[in-house]
Amino acid sequence: MPLDGISVVKMTDSFTKARSMNFPRQVIAGHNCIEGVGTMCEEFGLKGTALIVTGPTTGALAARQVRDLLVASKYDVQEIVVGEATQQNLVKVEEVTKDVKASFLLGVGGGSKIDLAKLASANLKKPFLSVPTSASHDGLASPRASIKDGGNSLSLNAAVPMGVVADTAMIVKAPYRLLAAGCADVISNTTAVLDWQLADRLRSDTFSSSAANLAKYAADSIIENAASIKPNLEESVWVAIRPIIISGISMAVAGSSRPTSGSEHMFSHTLDKIAPGKALHGEQCGVGSIMMMYLHGGDWQRIRDTLQRIGAPTTAKELGVSREELIEALVHANEVRKDRYTILGDRGLTPDAAERLAMLTNVI
Ligand SMILES: [Zn+2]
Repeated sequence: MPLDGISVVKMTDSFTKARSMNFPRQVIAGHNCIEGVGTMCEEFGLKGTALIVTGPTTGALAARQVRDLLVASKYDVQEIVVGEATQQNLVKVEEVTKDVKASFLLGVGGGSKIDLAKLASANLKKPFLSVPTSASHDGLASPRASIKDGGNSLSLNAAVPMGVVADTAMIVKAPYRLLAAGCADVISNTTAVLDWQLADRLRSDTFSSSAANLAKYAADSIIENAASIKPNLEESVWVAIRPIIISGISMAVAGSSRPTSGSEHMFSHTLDKIAPGKALHGEQCGVGSIMMMYLHGGDWQRIRDTLQRIGAPTTAKELGVSREELIEALVHANEVRKDRYTILGDRGLTPDAAERLAMLTNVI
């Protein structure tokens, strides 16, 4: 019986929402922290054979160090050296994992090695550790992975690393351009979050303010500390790595890449198709974020100034793409993910509007 002025919820109205979130169990970052990799595996209770997934060049030195440390912790260690994150290489990693009866994997290298370990681990239901030797995007600790299949680049749900070991002494040895791109990728969360809020208002998109706040906090943290992010300085890696990891965690909270990937990522993915291999993912997203922030009516100069300060590209020329390629990428950016509503709307930009946008923001 309803009480006066109070509506009583009927007992038959049952609550049906449910979700799960997976996070890394331990993240260690800092000077020489690679030395903790064996202990981390032991603390996780991992046993048997470890498979190191690494590359021929950058990861090799780190992989040798990881191998020695795991052997010291009495693990049987196997290794596979692979190239890019392609469907073919993924099959190779999975076959070797089965052949050597690996009980866990370690991705040791740049983003592509971590993505391969991440996907193989998700497909074969084995734990994996992320040991980055560079930090060129926000995928080090995220549940998402990109893989090339033929000419297409796919972004897939994969496993969250059980542990992350981000050694600043190791990452500082990678070319600075990679770290600057990683920072630019995180800075682009600013527009991704605005796009998500817009989609929430217009399309009732599943919005999570905790995920959005984490993603935004990560971006602000890079923006506020931009002055101390510079080449050949280990402290720069220290300042940048935490927001890069937090950005990945925001995806784990959201259960999608939405807090870190909006219209600026759609622009970057389109540019990948129009002018493949010219610039890094994070570099393109940074430039995209300048322009998308303009469309949102926000402080796009702040994005541009920060990118300039850390030494990331802010123009088409610096990305190595032509004026025409950049405009074309803007015009077609809305076609990438039709399910993801952004400031580009359903119809996107006209060529005239795209050109004006790029000129007003000094991108061309
Ligand atoms: Zn990204």
